[in-house]
Amino acid sequence: MNYDFDVFVIGAGSGGVRTARMAAAAGAKVAVADDRALGGTCVNVGCVPKKLYTYASHFSHDVANAAGFGWQVPAVKFDWPTLVANKKHEISRLNTIYGNLLNSSGAHVIAGYAQLKDAHTVTVSNQDYTAERIVIATGGTPNIPPVGYADLLISSDQIFDLPEFPKRLLVVGAGYIALEFACIFQGLGSQVEVSYRGDLIMRGFDQDVRQFVDQEMRKQGIVLSYQSQVENVEKQTDGSLLVTFNDGSSRQVDQVLMAIGRNPRLQGIGLERVGIQTTASGTIAVNDKFQTNISSIYALGDVTGGIELTPVALAEAMTLVNHWYGDGSKTMDYEFIPTAVFTQPNVGTIGLTEQQARDQYSHIDVYSADFKPMKHTLSGNDERSFMKLIVDKTSDRVIGLHIVGEGAGEMLQGFGVAIKAGATKADFDATIGIHPTSAEELVTMRV
Ligand code: NDP
Repeated sequence: MNYDFDVFVIGAGSGGVRTARMAAAAGAKVAVADDRALGGTCVNVGCVPKKLYTYASHFSHDVANAAGFGWQVPAVKFDWPTLVANKKHEISRLNTIYGNLLNSSGAHVIAGYAQLKDAHTVTVSNQDYTAERIVIATGGTPNIPPVGYADLLISSDQIFDLPEFPKRLLVVGAGYIALEFACIFQGLGSQVEVSYRGDLIMRGFDQDVRQFVDQEMRKQGIVLSYQSQVENVEKQTDGSLLVTFNDGSSRQVDQVLMAIGRNPRLQGIGLERVGIQTTASGTIAVNDKFQTNISSIYALGDVTGGIELTPVALAEAMTLVNHWYGDGSKTMDYEFIPTAVFTQPNVGTIGLTEQQARDQYSHIDVYSADFKPMKHTLSGNDERSFMKLIVDKTSDRVIGLHIVGEGAGEMLQGFGVAIKAGATKADFDATIGIHPTSAEELVTMRV
């Protein structure tokens, strides 16, 4: 059968663009459709602008830390519109780069919302396109609860471009997005409160890490409220928001950021029409080849409800294209995926938490260090760093590594290679440290 394309990708985010480019590079005739700016969540309202804003917020800490090193810094002032404008400029540069990358790979870019018509047909702006294979890589959208005051809440999609800087910010949730924005806005000068329904932030992370980050965030002045739930939000005549909580207390804030997870972006795409099976949580069900129950339709990235990280979507795309057009040798390995939370200080983590290790292994050793980084011996800042290694005593393999401290994400990428390669504690011990660094702690842990 003759199709318009070999591969039609729906969604030009991290996973979709990589699929389209790699398939086109392999000689396939490829189309990719998106109704929004190229690059998806990561480029437009996720990783990239978030990291830029993280840099912005760090300057306030740098300025405060500088005095102890002899710098007399005059009063500084932060200008939100400058940051927003410069961010917009950079993101539109990246959008252009994504367009160029797709065009130069030979992929055909179609602007518009794509809908499935049948197992081999996609409709965009009333035009039908047929393809041998269709890939759904539409990512996710922030979860905003269906409450009467929903239009008073913002998500991570809106927070980057707020017309006015929120002097008082309430953040709901205590996962990646909530805590990263709490730290960003505290650093930029907001008064920040985190409202979390549970007992301790960062559920799923190592318990010591969770407690350590809780303490570090509080030291900066961020209020962390546990067992806390928003009951109502009302707009006041001065434009502020009056938030009422489950304990009867209330707070006046400028914005309420909901960061309570993300849903797959599938509305109106036509899954039912084609009969594509979904999971209980509404994500697309796929096999280990990213194939849905309709054999010509594939899905990858956040829309499949796996690990919601750009590098995971990229690896999935490479695996899928290798499976189609390569030697098929690539398989997706979800073990030992390093991840960082860009809080202040950062968290970097790979492998098992102590609890998971205790549940899965009969004998483990746990090494940890809690110390004042050298920089803060003069800065006057009381921020501390924390590191933890978890070792399977039987094989000596390092099965968990957790870092809280400046540059944790950068540090972890290198250690991630070692751990993925199966490094043992003896390998760590045999590695000479780099002095003076924080990372050397990880190769000198004896206790
Ligand atoms: P997370 O799953 O990380 O956190 C969601 C938070 O919201 C949790 O604290 C959760 O509480 C809470 N929550 C969930 N449902 C409700 C509810 N109905 N009412 C109140 N609170 C609720 O999701 P995020 O939205 O922060 O981020 C989505 C994903 O994006 C992350 O999991 C991560 O994979 C990715 N991401 C990665 C980043 C990075 O790599 N640095 C940065 C940002 C996002 P509880 O724990 O009790 O369930």
